[in-house]
Amino acid sequence: MDLRPNYQLHFSVRRFTVVLRTIKMKLHPFLGKGRGALADQVISIDKDRYLIDGFDLGVAERTGTFVLDEGQLTLIETGPSISVPYIKRGLKSLGYSLEQVRYIIVTHIHLDHSGGLGLLLNDCPNATVYAHDKGIRHLIDPTRLIKGAKVVYGSSFDSLFSPVLPVDENRVRPAQHLGTLTIGDQSTLTFYHTPGHANHHIGIHDERKKTFFAGDTLGVIYPSLERVGIKLVLPSTSPNQFDPELMLKSKELVKSLSPKRIAFGHFGVSHDPSMVYEQLTYWLPIFLQLGESFLEKNDFEGLKEALFTKVQKELLKFADDIPEEAYRSIEVDLFVSTMGILDYLSRQKRRK
Ligand SMILES: [Zn+2]
Repeated sequence: MDLRPNYQLHFSVRRFTVVLRTIKMKLHPFLGKGRGALADQVISIDKDRYLIDGFDLGVAERTGTFVLDEGQLTLIETGPSISVPYIKRGLKSLGYSLEQVRYIIVTHIHLDHSGGLGLLLNDCPNATVYAHDKGIRHLIDPTRLIKGAKVVYGSSFDSLFSPVLPVDENRVRPAQHLGTLTIGDQSTLTFYHTPGHANHHIGIHDERKKTFFAGDTLGVIYPSLERVGIKLVLPSTSPNQFDPELMLKSKELVKSLSPKRIAFGHFGVSHDPSMVYEQLTYWLPIFLQLGESFLEKNDFEGLKEALFTKVQKELLKFADDIPEEAYRSIEVDLFVSTMGILDYLSRQKRRK
């Protein structure tokens, strides 16, 4: 995969640090306390299925680790290394030991999904990892991954992602398209290649629970908006492998499996898959059209503001009072998505 730094992104890094500072102003009460009320960091999705909040970027409801309690205890995603203590405490509060963790599956190798894998594996002696074939070598040697992320996150990199530890190659297996993994007597997971957000992205179909773990392929949902009755799904168009055609193809693939629930990398579970497909199909062309109008001048700030204004306008149709935390999350997501849209469109232009 191509993790080359993109010169267009450099000028944005300072601004990202400012965005992060703003988002951190409203830290989750657990942060910095180490111990205490941990109950609400574990969300029960269903009997035998849980979500542990990983506090990516130091913020609640950004990323999480799904726990599948079957004969073979299975985790999906680890988040970055700063999430590992939350995962450990979450598992403990659910009554599991780290020795019981048998499988860890990562949907893709972006650091907000698997940056903490090496660190967590050190404490899970019986765990085997599944990831897409193309991602495995970067898990084993994360040098290029770190370099690529430093371009996007600049001076914030260390506080957000360090350490990114290499994964022992003997502990990783390729998650082949249509490959299966039996995790319990009546529970088998099926892997699907779902490119669009990243080439090496996989989705996981949990047939027993009719749940599809989509990582970032189908976009991002916002629990703080759902609490005020607004359902929003925005595409996640991060650099530098975003491909809208593949994203829509992957959406069709997921749709053909008719899941009842879609589990997102960011953040939580939607019980309304058709709404998810519709919103992805609605927003993706808007992202690209707006991108086209700012491509000529490579106007990052202009595009980011235009996307934000468009989303805000849409939200205000449904409620006058949009939670601040939702705006902060959307701002961070649009920051990264803006980079990816300009990167994709300039790749397309060079090809012509
Ligand atoms: Zn992500």
